[in-house]
Amino acid sequence: AFEFYPEVGLTRVELFDKISANMSEKRFRHVQNVAKSALKLAERWGYSEPRKAELAGLLHDYAKEETDATFIQLIEKYQLDPDLLNWNNNVWHGLVGIYKIQEDLGLTDPEIIRAIEIHTVGSAAMTLLDKILYVADYVEEGRAFEGVDAARHLAYEQDLDAAVAYETVHTVAFLTSKHVRIYPQTILTYNAYVDQLK
Ligand code: GDP
Ligand code: FE
Ligand code: FE
Ligand code: FE
Repeated sequence: AFEFYPEVGLTRVELFDKISANMSEKRFRHVQNVAKSALKLAERWGYSEPRKAELAGLLHDYAKEETDATFIQLIEKYQLDPDLLNWNNNVWHGLVGIYKIQEDLGLTDPEIIRAIEIHTVGSAAMTLLDKILYVADYVEEGRAFEGVDAARHLAYEQDLDAAVAYETVHTVAFLTSKHVRIYPQTILTYNAYVDQLK
C-alpha cells in the first residue's frame, strides 16, 4: 500500500526483502496478513497514521525465529529485567525482539516500538496503535480457531476495546488449559480490559 517507509528508510521492496530473509514463508504470509488487518483496523477506528499501523504489522514478528541464545544475549546487553530469563520465545520475541529490530532496521519510532514490544502480552494502558496491532495479530485472515469470527466481529465492527478483552480472555483460557505459566503483564491486561466485554 505504501511505496516508502520513512521510519526505516526503506522502500517497500527493500523492506519486504529484509523481512522475508529473516523468516519462513509461512510467517512472512502471516506478517503481511497482520499488516493488512492493521490497515483495516486503522481505517475503521480512525488511527491517523495508517502507514505506521501497516509497518507495525510487517515488523511485529521480525525476531520470532531468533535463537534463545540471541534473546539471552540481548537481555544481558541491554540490561533488561532479569526475570525475562525465566521465560521463552513466546514472551521474548516482542519484549526483547524490539532490540533486534532496532539494531537491524534502525527503527526509532517510539509508538511502533511500543506496539511491537507488547503485541503478545498487551498492557493495562494501550494506545490505539497498541490495540490495533494486538488485535490484528489475532484476527488476520489466515487465523482459524474457535471464536475467531466473534473476535473479527468485535474488531472490525463493534468495539476495539472489547476485541482486546476477548482476545485476552481467550489467550488466558488457552494458556491455563495448556498448564503453562502466564506472564504477569498478560494478567494486568486481562484485569484492565475484561470489563469491556459485555
Ligand atoms: P504470534 O507470534 O503471531 O504467534 O502471536 P503472539 O505473539 O500473540 O503469541 C505468541 C505465543 O505466545 C502464542 O502461542 C500465545 O498463546 C503465547 N502467549 C501469549 N501470552 C502469553 C503469556 O502470558 N505467557 C505465555 N507463556 N505465553 C503466552
Ligand atoms: Fe508474535
Ligand atoms: Fe497476539
Ligand atoms: Fe504474529
